[in-house]
Amino acid sequence: AFDLLVVGGGPAGASAAIYGARKGIKTGIVADSFGGQVMDTMAIENFISVKGTQGPKLVASLEEHVRDYDVDIMDNQKARQVQAADQPGGNITIELENGAKLQTKALLLATGARWREMNVPGEQEYRGKGVAYCPHCDGPLFKGKAVAVIGGGNSGIEAAIDLAGIVSKVTVLEFDSKLRADEVLQQKARSMGNIDIILNARTTKVTGDGEKVSGLNYTCGSSGEAKQLDVAGIFVQIGLVPNSQFLPEELALNNRGEIITGSGGQTNLPGVYAAGDVTDSAYKQIIIAMGSGATAALGAFDYLMRVPQP
Ligand code: FAD
Repeated sequence: AFDLLVVGGGPAGASAAIYGARKGIKTGIVADSFGGQVMDTMAIENFISVKGTQGPKLVASLEEHVRDYDVDIMDNQKARQVQAADQPGGNITIELENGAKLQTKALLLATGARWREMNVPGEQEYRGKGVAYCPHCDGPLFKGKAVAVIGGGNSGIEAAIDLAGIVSKVTVLEFDSKLRADEVLQQKARSMGNIDIILNARTTKVTGDGEKVSGLNYTCGSSGEAKQLDVAGIFVQIGLVPNSQFLPEELALNNRGEIITGSGGQTNLPGVYAAGDVTDSAYKQIIIAMGSGATAALGAFDYLMRVPQP
């Protein structure tokens, strides 16, 4: 059995595995795909102390760093079920899709999240070529240009306000007949001068020249009329879905499906810790995921030191 088993090989999981192994405990990491969302990222300019890098390059360094330690890496393996310990200090069982069962005293969940997609033609083709999901990450790439934000909830309106300070113009497209964002955010957006909001607008297609985005098509809900908008960037803000579907019912999630964690990364189940985008952390970024992975590994180590052995 492992002392610490990490599920997830993104920045949170990699950081947790290194912190675990540095304590000299038996550490393993199970990852469906090592690197996680970072693998899909082209330019990374906010990983502090590294001025600029690319996702695959950062993932290669992450993996090299993890391999430098005595960590049992199980890559291309997906966890499908978790069975909590029957008492504190007992073994937690993790079942993989290939049927294998792993046992661990402490489990650290770092399975990340995925952006909800529009599922319209052109979205995949222009992903990273104008179709973006993270305003903190990609906003500066559109300096002085016109962009669209898809979604009028809190994250969409926050993105619009954030982007309005960088780009020339932001058009928010909301498919409902009203915005769902908090009133204060709506007021702030309306006061900014370069944010347009279009309600009842359903995006139907991302258009481009083969190299990069040039605009999008949408239909007006009330009239059904087809319209077109010229933009250099499209920020899709219709939700971030945490990868928490396979977890046991007893594990406490918030209403967004994120794992509720305490300040040491602990969950409501003894010996189960969580870190990164799968948790209720306020912000989702690489540097934050790594920090919370370290926190949760230290929290798990503290648990292992103190818990009475059954
Ligand atoms: P993830 O990176 O999502 O990793 C999750 C890991 O869990 C993966 O290894 C996955 O395969 C694995 N996994 C999931 N389910 C299972 C399972 N059942 N069994 C086993 N393994 C499983 N942040 C920045 O700071 N700067 C940026 O410039 C930036 N740009 C971004 C651009 C894009 C296109 C995207 C999508 C995100 C970007 N982000 C950026 C956000 C950043 O990538 C995330 O905040 C960060 O990767 C979260 O790390 P994580 O380890 O929590 O999860």
